[in-house]
Amino acid sequence: MQELTHFIGGRRVPGRSGRFVDVYEPMTGAVRARAPLASSEEVHAAVANARATQAEWAAVNPQRRARVMIRFLEIMAREQDALAKLLACEHGKTIADARGDIQRGLEVVEFCVGAPHLLKGDYTNSAGAGIDIASMRQPIGVAAGITPFNFPAMIPMWMFAPAIACGDAFILKPSERNPSVPLRLAELMLEAGLPPGVLNVINGDKEAVDALLDHADVEAIAFVGSTPIAEYVYARATGNGKRAQCFGAGKNHMVVMPDADMDQAVDALVGAGYGSAGERCMAVSVAVPVGQSTAKELLRRLTPRVESLKVGLSTDETADFGPLISKAHLDRVQNYISLGVSEGAKLLVDGRGFKMQGYESGFFIGGCLFDEVEPSMRIYREEIFGPVVSVVRAESYEQALALVDQHEYGNGAAIFTRSGDVARDFASRAKAGMIGVNVATPTPLAYYTFGGWKRSFFGDLNQHGPDAFRFFTRTKTVTSRWAGGDREGANFAFPTMS
Ligand code: NAD
Repeated sequence: MQELTHFIGGRRVPGRSGRFVDVYEPMTGAVRARAPLASSEEVHAAVANARATQAEWAAVNPQRRARVMIRFLEIMAREQDALAKLLACEHGKTIADARGDIQRGLEVVEFCVGAPHLLKGDYTNSAGAGIDIASMRQPIGVAAGITPFNFPAMIPMWMFAPAIACGDAFILKPSERNPSVPLRLAELMLEAGLPPGVLNVINGDKEAVDALLDHADVEAIAFVGSTPIAEYVYARATGNGKRAQCFGAGKNHMVVMPDADMDQAVDALVGAGYGSAGERCMAVSVAVPVGQSTAKELLRRLTPRVESLKVGLSTDETADFGPLISKAHLDRVQNYISLGVSEGAKLLVDGRGFKMQGYESGFFIGGCLFDEVEPSMRIYREEIFGPVVSVVRAESYEQALALVDQHEYGNGAAIFTRSGDVARDFASRAKAGMIGVNVATPTPLAYYTFGGWKRSFFGDLNQHGPDAFRFFTRTKTVTSRWAGGDREGANFAFPTMS
C-alpha cells in the first residue's frame, strides 16, 4: 500500500508520529493509501522551516513572485489530466467534475499573476506642508490553511496562491481524506520555481490543526470545512491573536417563481443539487416553489429527472455523479433519508437501494428527492451534504424570502424568475453572501470574492479576489516630513490638518 508523506522544505518527508489514517478509493471502497497524521513537533518543524524562508521570499520582487504563478499555470496545463484522474479516484467525483475543481483553483492563480498591481500602495503628496503619506501592503509572515475534502485542488489553490503571491510562506493542512492532490500541487509549485520551504504540506487531524492554531509564528489562519469546526478554529485562532477567515456549511435555497422558465430551472436544479453527489458547499439542497401550481409543475418535471440520474464510477465520463467520500458519510446521508421519512416528509425518489454492479463495496447512493419538507424538520435545518433535494413549498414570494433569511446558514441563494423587479428585490434583501438570478450555483469568479453570511462564515475578509490580498497582508502607513516643510517647533496638541 502506498504511504503518503508530508511536504516540508521542498521535499516529501515521511511521517514520524506513528499515527496514520486510511485513504480510500470511494468507487471501489478499497484503501488506496495511508496518510501520516502529524504530531505537534512535526508541525513545529514545518513552521520553523516556513519562517526561515519567508523573509527571503518576501524580498523577491512582486513581478518575480508572479512569474512563479505563470510557470505553475503552464505546468498545470501539462499535468491537468493526470491530476483530474487522481482527484476523481481519491474523492469520488467524476473526472469531468474534477477538471472543474482544478480549473476554478487555477483561475485564482491567474488572478494572482496580477499581484504587482494588487499590492500597489497609496500615496498622498503634500498632505501637509512638506508632509507626504504613503500606505503599503506587507506580507503577513507565515500563514496556514486548513481545507475540506470536497475541493482538494480548488480550495488549497484559493489559499496558497494569494498568500504566496503576497510574499507569505504557507503551511497547508489538507483534508486527511484526500491529501494526494494537495501534495502534488506543492511539488509542482516547486517545479515552477518556488523556493523550498515557502509552501509546505502537513497531513494530520485535530492535533496538527491545534498545533497551527497555537503556534506563535503562524500569523493568519484560513479555514474551510463544517460549521462547528469553523467556529472552533475561529475562536481559538483569534483568541491566540491571529487573523482568521473560517468558512462553514451551507443550505442553499433556490426559489422558483411562477413566471420562471421551468426548463431552465429544472436543468439548473438537477445540476446544482446532484452534481458532485451534493458534496458542494454551494449545492442547492432546498428548492422553494412559490404557489401550488409552480410546485406541481416543478415536481412533474423534476421527479423523472432525479429518477433517471446516472450514478457511475468516477472514471465514467458519462456519469452525472459518483460515490460519496466515505462509508461513514454514506451512512450519515442514509440516516438523514430515514430521518426525513420519520419526520413526515414525502420521499418521492429514494436512492438508498442503489448498488453499482461489480462495485458493491463502493460508497454509492442514488439521487433522493423529498417533497412537503417543513422548516421545523432536521432534514431542512441541517446540512446533509449528499445527493438530496428538499422541496419546501411557499405560498408567496415573501414567505420564500423569509425561509432564506431565517435559515442559520447563508452561503448562497438563487431565484428563478423572468421578473426584473422580483430578481432585484431578492438580490438586495436576501440574507446570503452569494446570490444567483437564474443561476443556481452563484460561485463568484476569481476576481470577485467568495464568502457566505450568518453561520456559513466567521471572519471579515472573503476568499480570493481583492479580499485575499488584504487578508494575507498587513497595511503600513508612513507619514514623512522633509526639510522644506513647516518648522513649528514642539507641538503638544494632537496634530490635525485644520
Ligand atoms: P470538516 O470540518 O470535517 O474538515 C475540514 C478540515 O478541518 C479538515 O482539514 C479536517 O482535518 C479538520 N478538522 C476536522 N475536525 C477537526 C477538529 N475537531 N479540530 C480541528 N480540525 C479539524 O469538513 P469536511 O467534511 O472535510 O468538508 C465538508 C464541509 O465543508 C461541509 O460542511 C461544507 O459545506 C464545508 N465547505 C464549506 C465551503 C465554504 O466555502 N463555505 C467550501 C467547501 C466546503
